[in-house]
Amino acid sequence: MGNLNLAVVIRNPIDDAEFLLQKLLPPAKFGDKAYDTFIDSDLWDLPSTDFLLLEGRISSGIAVSIVESCSDQVDLKNFDIESTLNRLLANLGFDFSHVGEWSFVRYVEEPEFGPDSCVSTCFIAGKLLDKDPTSQDNHKWMSMEACFDCLIDVKPGSDRIGPLVLLGLGDGTLQATQQKFSTSLPIQEYPPGVMIVPMRSRTLKPFKTTNLVVFAPENGSADHQGTDFVAYGDALIVDPGCLKKLHVELKKIVDALPRKLIVFVTHHHPDHIDGLSAIQESNPDAILVAHVKTRHRIDGWSGDYTPVSGGENIYVNGQRLTVIFAPGHTDGHMALLHNSTHSLIVGDHCVGKGSAFLDIRSGGNMTEYFQSTYKILELSPHVVIPMHGRVNLWPKHMLCGYLKNRRSREESIRKATEDGARTLFDIVANVYSSVDRSFWLAAASNVRLHIDNLAVEDKLPDGFSIQKFKASCGLRFVIRWTASYISSQIPLKINEPGFIMSLIAAGAGYFILYVLKRKNKIES
Ligand SMILES: [Zn+2]
Repeated sequence: MGNLNLAVVIRNPIDDAEFLLQKLLPPAKFGDKAYDTFIDSDLWDLPSTDFLLLEGRISSGIAVSIVESCSDQVDLKNFDIESTLNRLLANLGFDFSHVGEWSFVRYVEEPEFGPDSCVSTCFIAGKLLDKDPTSQDNHKWMSMEACFDCLIDVKPGSDRIGPLVLLGLGDGTLQATQQKFSTSLPIQEYPPGVMIVPMRSRTLKPFKTTNLVVFAPENGSADHQGTDFVAYGDALIVDPGCLKKLHVELKKIVDALPRKLIVFVTHHHPDHIDGLSAIQESNPDAILVAHVKTRHRIDGWSGDYTPVSGGENIYVNGQRLTVIFAPGHTDGHMALLHNSTHSLIVGDHCVGKGSAFLDIRSGGNMTEYFQSTYKILELSPHVVIPMHGRVNLWPKHMLCGYLKNRRSREESIRKATEDGARTLFDIVANVYSSVDRSFWLAAASNVRLHIDNLAVEDKLPDGFSIQKFKASCGLRFVIRWTASYISSQIPLKINEPGFIMSLIAAGAGYFILYVLKRKNKIES
């Protein structure tokens, strides 16, 4: 079952169509004006909390009746529903006596987004017996219709509605969406119309899946007949990157979608494009939309292709999506803004937990990463949909967290150069001295990207030569790292694969360096 939450639908005693929403607490501030000025708008959702375990206590009365009403779908016998409800109601200024009979609404299991375990939610409903006994400003009454309007006709900066309203009270239950796509894979719909299907892929740890995003709006309008678009269709798929063994599920989804299909790819990494061949087999008429640098790195797509460079519109059955150029992770990296819900499909610029690496071999660039981050902050999306992990409900806070962490790392790199470090190895050894040396190889590309950015921002000390620094990268770094890694392993653990690899790498490194030096001598 994973982690279990309890969410409550408390009906208004005066208007049965309305239920109570609670203002969620935003994440803690950074204590730094550079980041704390970016504030996500207020987020309202059904009151919820994690379920407490019974731990030897015996439930009674009202708790027993709720547990019995849920038992077909979720077994709550080991959970302390009474204490959990009391805690939840106390937060709202209520207690048990204020609410009438409780009933079970729905049990929703979250798809496996990872890396944390799934959260399932049990929704129960009750009605306030008398008029609202409190006057707190952390809750308000809204109808489903009003919530829906807020979700699908977003005014930037306005109050936001969280996912529990849709999961607990929306029409589209998980089963209905699964049936529509003829798949057994768990699907999450949030915001309305944005379907997210985490599928196993060749992604990097700690993640195991790539989120396939699907738009298939049913009630379209003809407002795509203008001239402000580069592609239009009746359905859209973003980043089909699943493993080959899941191609059969991907094909089921594609087969269930209208034939006029757009396939948008945020960038070329295998965990974002491995399913393209399956899409082409199911629907050879599908149109690929991607940056030209991404297209050049994709083999095997023989169908139509539309290049985008940012700022273009795509219409899907009348719904407008805007292409956002967001380089940094790679040089052709794109994001996609769904205009009506103001949700941003952000590719690998953000991930559900931690931060994404920048791919130095595919034009990854720290300066562009910072610029793209500020561009997304300016866009002020209501929700960010990464391709790995859960959707993020506090986009500005997450983006500022990235900026703060990377700026702080960059400052330690700058300090190392101030202290006299001139080569890649010396800087890595200085900044990452407390980190296991096996991680230094990965850290090295990060340092190179930061040094490039410090050079752009003119923050390197006077005596620092970019030419000499660049000459110290690549093989020279590998050789020094290998020697340092071996010396750190003393007493030598010669049976460990890491040691043997180091020895091979060192031998190969010295040989190539020797050949290059000879070649240079001959040429000069
Ligand atoms: Zn990637």
